[in-house]
Formats: sequence, structure tokens, C-alpha cells
Amino acid sequence: REWCVALPKVELHAHLNGSVRNSTLLELAKQLGDKGIIVFEDVKDVIMKSDRSLPECFKLFDLFHILTTDHDTVTRIAKEVVEDFAAENVVYLEIRTTPKNNEAKGMTKRSYMDAVIKGLKAVEDVDVELFGSNFRTNETLSSKLLDGDTKKKKIYVRLLLSIDRRETTSAALDTVNLAMEMMDQGVIGIDLSGNPVVGEWETYLPALQHAKNLGIPVTIHCGEVANRKEIQAVLDFCPQRLGHVCCLNDVEWKKLKSLMIPVEICLTSNVMTGGAPSLELHHFADLYNAKHPLSLCTDDSGLFSTSLSNEYYLVATTFGLSKSELFQLAQDAVQFVFADDVVKKSLKEVFKHAEKRLL
Ligand code: 5GP
Repeated sequence: REWCVALPKVELHAHLNGSVRNSTLLELAKQLGDKGIIVFEDVKDVIMKSDRSLPECFKLFDLFHILTTDHDTVTRIAKEVVEDFAAENVVYLEIRTTPKNNEAKGMTKRSYMDAVIKGLKAVEDVDVELFGSNFRTNETLSSKLLDGDTKKKKIYVRLLLSIDRRETTSAALDTVNLAMEMMDQGVIGIDLSGNPVVGEWETYLPALQHAKNLGIPVTIHCGEVANRKEIQAVLDFCPQRLGHVCCLNDVEWKKLKSLMIPVEICLTSNVMTGGAPSLELHHFADLYNAKHPLSLCTDDSGLFSTSLSNEYYLVATTFGLSKSELFQLAQDAVQFVFADDVVKKSLKEVFKHAEKRLL
């Protein structure tokens, strides 16, 4: 387990509001309870419950959003989430979040994202590289990452803007345009997520196509439920990466494999929400054996009480991967980051250096 923590890791699928510490959620719930806005004891039970079905998760997100959606809290959770990932040696983190309009809080999609970025800049315990390779002029991050454990930890952070499946075409287009506007501020791609039984592919397609036309990388939650028509349409769209890919049939597996679209694998999340029957029967094994491009991810580390180190540990204990195979798996994820080649080169150096220490 400690070895998995020490392993440098790349996280490509982490939802901001799903990665909030339980302690923070409880503290926020207590504050709203004291103000009489919610009943603390009821909310506490929901937060502390450990197994959750997929529909329960989405009800819970509505609750999380009540707790977290004001500017200061968004800033706080963004800061804490980065600190938590850095603490377990994640060296590159793509956080995805849904920009939210909330008139009651004077919040626009833009001001929500500004609050997220304020949180990333407020991180003190860790050196955060957010804006691109020229952010640090006198010292590259890779040389700092190579310094080992004695100094402050370092992490690259990039942002993906999520389109929620409940949104209209026009709201989805706003998100893509916002991503374009914020490309020089750490935003690097677009995600489609939200309750998979809600909404229609045709609603988001214009926005996803717009992102493609603008050259913005796209990742899509695919096959969380067996929606044949949509899985087909997503594969035809051929995004840069896919999340989950649980409920594919034989023809769709074949197509995915021939397209070689990298997959963000979320073991704990899939088992907890029923996307995979068990860890042992998770489609990781099939994709791994087929040498399909993939990367281990947490999805919602807070909601599912996991960590990226734990996901690597689960792979080791369930599928019997050796340390060198785990190392290779972590290192291979560098190829699938949305950041530029300068960042990739720097991350490769980090792994090269860590190899001596860990293998
Ligand atoms: P946020 O975007 O508010 O920072 O993070 C929470 C949101 O991410 C949820 O409301 C939901 O739209 C999305 N999300 C988190 N986990 C999952 C998941 O496992 N599947 C899907 N489809 N969406 C998710």
C-alpha cells in the first residue's frame, strides 16, 4: 500500500464535487444546519453512508451542490482537493467540474470557474503549476519534482469543464465557449457527465462538435448504462478519451478496441454503482490484457471513499500486477494527458527518476 502511495501518479478523471473530504462536507452541513437551511442529522447519515447506487449518487450530488455552491466554498474545496491528491503523490491532476449559474448566489459559470482557480492558487503546502509550461520561468517543475520527498510536493493541475446532461444545448455551448475563453488559465478540455439516464445525445452534440472544431480535447462518460444508441454515437464521435465504458456489447468492445480511444478506468466507482459486477469481473482485465490504452482514476474519491493509490493497490491485489507492471501502468497514463508535450516531457522525467527509487 505504501508503495502505491509513493508511486507518482496521473489522475485524469476526478470530479471536483465528488472529491470533497467528508470532514469538509460535514462541517458545511453543520453550518447550514445551524442556520436552519437543512436538517444536519439527516444529511450526516447520507454523507456517511458507504454503499451507494448510481441513482443515489446523483441525488447526493444535488445535496453536495447545496452545501458547496457559493464562491468561497468552491474556492475552499478546490484548494483541499488539490492538496489531497498531491499528498498521495499525484503529479498531474485533471480536475473536472460543471460551471454553474446560480442567480441566488450571484454566481455565473465564469465566476464559478474564477472561484475554482482562486482555490488552486491558494494552495500553500504544494507547488501548483496551473497555467502552462511558461508559468515558472527560472525553474521547471520537473526539476522541482525530482527533488524527492524532502521539499514541498509539486503538482501540475489542469481543468476540464463538464457539461451536465441536464443542460440545454445553449448552456452546453456556453460551457464550451467558456473553456475557450479560459484556455490560458489552466482549462484544457471538455467533459460530458451527469446522470446517464437523463437527457439526449443530440442535445449535447452541437456543443461537443463545437469543442472539436475549436480543437478542444473532449472526454465523454460512456456506457454507464446500456444505452445502445448513445454508445454507438459516442464511439462514432471518437473523443480523445472515454470514461467508464461499462455496458458495451461485443460489437461495441471491438469498435472501441479498434479505435484505440484511451479509457479512464474507475474501478471502485463502477463496482459501487453496479457498472461492473465485481472487482474481479471488471473490464479492466480485458482491456489491460488487450493492451488497450487506459489509465486508473478515482472518479469521486470523496463519494466512494477511495484514493488513486488505493485504485493501484486494488489492481495489484485483484489482478496480480507486479510492481513493475503497476509502474508501467502509471507511467503510460502520461501519454493520455490533455496537456502539451512540454508537460508530458517533464512528467516522463519524473517517472524516469522515480523508477530508480521504486523498482
Ligand atoms: P461537479 O461537476 O459539480 O464538480 O461534480 C459533480 C458532478 O459530476 C455531478 O453532479 C455529476 O454531474 C458528475 N459526476 C460525478 N460522478 C459521476 C459519475 O460517476 N458519472 C457521471 N455520469 N457523472 C458524474
